[in-house]
Amino acid sequence: MSALLVLDDLAEGPNALAFDLRAEELGLKDEFFAFPSSVATRVEVQRALDNFKINAVITCRIAGECYRCLEEVQEEVSARFRLLLQRRQATPEELASAEKDGFIEIVDPGTRELDLCAYIREAVILDLPMRIPTPEADGRCPHCGVDGADEPATEQEREVDPRWAALAQIEFSQPKEGS
Ligand SMILES: [Zn+2]
Repeated sequence: MSALLVLDDLAEGPNALAFDLRAEELGLKDEFFAFPSSVATRVEVQRALDNFKINAVITCRIAGECYRCLEEVQEEVSARFRLLLQRRQATPEELASAEKDGFIEIVDPGTRELDLCAYIREAVILDLPMRIPTPEADGRCPHCGVDGADEPATEQEREVDPRWAALAQIEFSQPKEGS
């Protein structure tokens, strides 16, 4: 099983494909995260003769240590990539410029298929978060239960000056008027 795009099977105009791959098939490996689910990729290909505009959306789950309590948490990650594939003769200059651009891929006129695995893997790795749980995925860890959205943005901000902490304590413990 792979994520093969068979170019001549694609109709002129829009095409929709889906691939469901295991992380091992994609060679997905990361120092901090494991990939406990399959990796789902939905691909739209807009074909105009030998031009293929590829738009892919990838979703998978990642598992790793909560950055606060170090228990395992899982989170959904989504990633995407776009690519303009052109099947034609190209000069070395054109090939070099396409490579630099990163979104255009020129392949030989005889090319029958394109394996999207490397693109999928790269897109997922690029979109891995720095740490989990992330505020985007509601930031809540089932173990320590802290809401990431309320967390200060940086380590520095988290350190509260003890004098201010003491002051906050006093104000908080004062009885409200009329109570
Ligand atoms: Zn936690």
